[in-house]
Amino acid sequence: MRPNPLAVSSGTRLPEALSFSDSSVRRDRNLHSHIVINGAGIAGLTAALCLARARFSVEVHEKAEGFDALGAGIQISPNAYSVLDRIGLGRELRECASNPDGIIIHSARTGKTITTIPLGLDAIKRYGFPYLALHRADLQQLLFRSCNENDNIQLFFSSQVVDFEPHRNGITGQVSSNSTLTEQQAKAIILADGVHSALRTKRLGLAEPVFQKKIAWRALVPMSEVPEELKGNNTHLWLGNKAHAVAYPVRNADWLNVVAITPAENSDMAYNVSKQAIANRFRKWNAAFQALFDTRAGWTGWPINETPKPTMLHTGPVAIIGDAAHTMLPFAAQGAAMAIEDAGVLADCLGHTADTETALQRFEHARLNRVARVIDLARQNERIYHLGGMAALARNLVMKHTPPEKLLKRQDWVYGWRVDQGNDRR
Ligand SMILES: Cc1cc2nc3c(=O)[nH]c(=O)nc-3n(C[C@H](O)[C@H](O)[C@H](O)COP(=O)(O)OP(=O)(O)OC[C@H]3O[C@@H](n4cnc5c(N)ncnc54)[C@H](O)[C@@H]3O)c2cc1C
Repeated sequence: MRPNPLAVSSGTRLPEALSFSDSSVRRDRNLHSHIVINGAGIAGLTAALCLARARFSVEVHEKAEGFDALGAGIQISPNAYSVLDRIGLGRELRECASNPDGIIIHSARTGKTITTIPLGLDAIKRYGFPYLALHRADLQQLLFRSCNENDNIQLFFSSQVVDFEPHRNGITGQVSSNSTLTEQQAKAIILADGVHSALRTKRLGLAEPVFQKKIAWRALVPMSEVPEELKGNNTHLWLGNKAHAVAYPVRNADWLNVVAITPAENSDMAYNVSKQAIANRFRKWNAAFQALFDTRAGWTGWPINETPKPTMLHTGPVAIIGDAAHTMLPFAAQGAAMAIEDAGVLADCLGHTADTETALQRFEHARLNRVARVIDLARQNERIYHLGGMAALARNLVMKHTPPEKLLKRQDWVYGWRVDQGNDRR
């Protein structure tokens, strides 16, 4: 028996408009053009759309019952946007996102502006695509809706690939759904099941993610309650001693999405924390930032993990993408971007080469250096953002005296990437 195609149950948090009609009719499929994806996050859903565009039939298995409209934002840089635009989502993405004019960098203690990195039209002129900020749930819903409307994609909730066995003709995946185990035949299986991917460790033998002794504190603050100086169409970045924060407008600028990262001895400290206890961590910060805690917004903690730098992204007909393959520090805002890039390159490689092993080798080759370089960038940003004392003063002076366009130019190798170049331009 096959798992039931996704039917959104009353317990899910999806809006009505996204509910599935009866999709229980199985589509004809050819083993040599059928791909199974485990995980319907940003990586899994983008991969499904890219693969469907490359004429594969795809089934996506998602462990959760439905999507959680997690109250947090996400920045989509031009490199990631270029992949989403290629699969026809550019216009809708722009419609639900803000396009900040720039990143205003502040001293966390005084709140004073150090410099502003131009984005907005400057980013579009430089990279051909915008730098966007939006609510994660809006991105997830856009991807989900597009998958749902695509005849070549089937999604299953409460369903997961629990094991697989490669063979001469492809691969057999064992799928567990509602306590029923079934076997699915495919050309390849893609693991896109996030930072805690079980098969990553169990079948690929890769190391567990490591808690980085840091917690991201997140809130969506109603814009009506935000101090005047933080209103407007900009991203704000505050640099503090061993801590930093980022804020940007989402959902028609009705909300300010705030993420602040501080040290923490253990990951449990992210949970059951009062707003006051979180606010205390920022008591030496400027008044405008502290005022964000005097609003109605609820704050939630999110432990920061990192996986060791990847040395492989496939074994036989199994590929691994997104956070499952390379969870990175969020200091370059590139985790989801790398997941989206993975998806685009993977589909191109599988679409251009009939032999799965060769295609996945090409995928791995195209991605390993690029991802490693972005992981290094995120670590470097951590060191720079979290400086204290004299080192912080020196950093601020250098930033202040560097022409803003030069600060943006430094990101060219990240934001200027395109899927058809496969790898970065180094
Ligand atoms: C504070 C913070 C801020 C960030 N900001 C940005 C940003 O601005 N820009 C950016 O590009 N990145 C950002 N990131 C990184 C980004 O959030 C992640 O890299 C991205 O969400 C990874 O997507 P994914 O699909 O690989 O994993 P996930 O989003 O974790 O999706 C994995 C999916 O697989 C499902 N799953 C799990 N286990 C199983 C299983 N056994 N079987 C089936 N399904 C399973 C999960 O339910 C989930 O739906 C940030 C991260 C943090 C922590």
